[in-house]
Amino acid sequence: MNYQNEMKVKFKAISENESFARICVAGFCASVNPTIDEINDIKTAVSEAVTNCVVHAYPKEKGNIEITTKITNSEVYITITDSGVGIADIEKAREPFYSSLADKERSGMGFTVMEGFMDKVIVESKIGKGTKITLIKQLGECSIAVGV
Ligand code: ATP
Ligand code: MG
Repeated sequence: MNYQNEMKVKFKAISENESFARICVAGFCASVNPTIDEINDIKTAVSEAVTNCVVHAYPKEKGNIEITTKITNSEVYITITDSGVGIADIEKAREPFYSSLADKERSGMGFTVMEGFMDKVIVESKIGKGTKITLIKQLGECSIAVGV
């Protein structure tokens, strides 16, 4: 069966929208009956990516975050995009325990968590232009719940 569906949402990069973002993606994914573990993994990874946009992308005026989600019966493909300050050294940013805000009690584990919970994490960024995170996860055996 070749089920395919996609959605796009855009909202302000403020902490009040973090739970909305993860619930929104999780709710969208429900149509392919993922397991509780799969949904929790997706929620955790989306939370980390969105929190990064809220905390790091817009140090001055808060801009927007855009999330797209594409789902098939075997894979979920999520992009989280901001148009903020960008990341100067992506390799370094992805290292466990690296944080540019270490003095503000950030542990530097966001990317490590995303990598742990998803099958693939792609980071694209341009200084002054913004950052796009792509999260990909294979889904196990699942049946389509048509009409849910
Ligand atoms: P934690 O997630 O544990 O609270 P953290 O956010 O600093 O800490 P990561 O999520 O791993 O750690 O991110 C590492 C670094 O990458 C950040 O400190 C920040 O410098 C940079 N970064 C991540 N996402 C963005 C973003 N969307 N825009 C700009 N910089 C970012
Ligand atoms: Mg983080």
